Amino acid sequence: MGNKIAVLPGDGIGPEVVDEALKVLHKVEDKFGFKLEIEKGLIGGAAIEKTGHPLPEETRKLALASDAILLGSIGGPKWDNLAPELSPEIGGLLALRKLLNLYINLRPAVVYEELKDSSPLSAKVLSGKVDLLTVRELAHGIYFGQPKSLTDEEAFDTMIYKREEVEQIAHVAFQAARKRKGKVTSVDKANVLSSSKLWRKVVIDVHQQYKDVELEHMYVDNAAMQLMLNPLQFDVILTTNLFGDILSDESAAICGSLGMLPSASLGAEINLFEPAGGSAPDIAGMGKANPIAQILSLAMMLETSFEQNDAAAAIRKSVDKIIADGYRTGDIAMSGEDVISTSEMGDVICKFI
Ligand code: NAD
Repeated sequence: MGNKIAVLPGDGIGPEVVDEALKVLHKVEDKFGFKLEIEKGLIGGAAIEKTGHPLPEETRKLALASDAILLGSIGGPKWDNLAPELSPEIGGLLALRKLLNLYINLRPAVVYEELKDSSPLSAKVLSGKVDLLTVRELAHGIYFGQPKSLTDEEAFDTMIYKREEVEQIAHVAFQAARKRKGKVTSVDKANVLSSSKLWRKVVIDVHQQYKDVELEHMYVDNAAMQLMLNPLQFDVILTTNLFGDILSDESAAICGSLGMLPSASLGAEINLFEPAGGSAPDIAGMGKANPIAQILSLAMMLETSFEQNDAAAAIRKSVDKIIADGYRTGDIAMSGEDVISTSEMGDVICKFI
């Protein structure tokens, strides 16, 4: 196992929250006695401004020479009207995901007891702690399936899955469930779609190797409804690229703020860790961003790519503590509550590690 990370702060609030994550990284390095080699690179609008391309050659080389990538966020109004291949989103982030062959997306969603009032769901629905993980297939399905066509009169996409593509993501979900509450809900549309019929069949086959994990199947329309009606029933949600894109944003919404939610995209070798939210241009440069999503993304990186499980646990414990103690950035504060800045939040998380 190597020790090199590429740090790509990107645009908007990205550099601000990445600074706080690095502060936290240095704190756990000191406490747990390890050291990662850090090299910073350009991506997104920041890279366009300096090099003319959202994913310059130096960043590609840096990413491929690293063991993991910690990304801030990309994009902003200034770069909204560029051609797709030169845009921060497609030419930058999607190109990076493709370069690294990332086919697994992990999105944990937790509703903290103390932040229930930030959630749009009622206290009756949130009668316990929501703690679910969406395992989304990221590299196949309808977003990439060929053929695709678009004319002024007709358009189509192809939703295609091969057995091995479903197998590899199903293994990830069952293994994740073993470390959690032991339940996988596989979400598909097997009553209508052929690709979903195969999906369900393969998930059942893979489940034979994980008899200790409970498996249930749910149609995606029902899953969207159940997330609102009873999110407590879920542990691991396993689903396709398209359904996962939608359901993981829905699960983020029930948590109240994007500023709390980390994510990981995993491939064969080099993994990418980033907050679930975007570059938040509305609050960029104001010291208002919540750095917790970035800091929890760091925790995911430390345990997934570097087996620094104690350091990751210490970060999560500190986040739990500061939330319980009432430290709030603006996005998670109720009216009348004191608000602290991005860097003060980073400092207080370091203090309790
Ligand atoms: P956004 O996630 O940036 O912001 C949505 C809302 O959430 C805003 O009100 C924002 O202030 C708030 N928010 C997000 N993160 C926050 C944080 N850490 N702390 C406090 N509040 C936070 O989504 P958007 O406004 O639709 O998009 C803005 C830009 O971000 C666009 O250019 C979009 O393409 C880009 N984007 C990038 C990524 C990525 O880098 N992975 C993901 C989504 C959107």
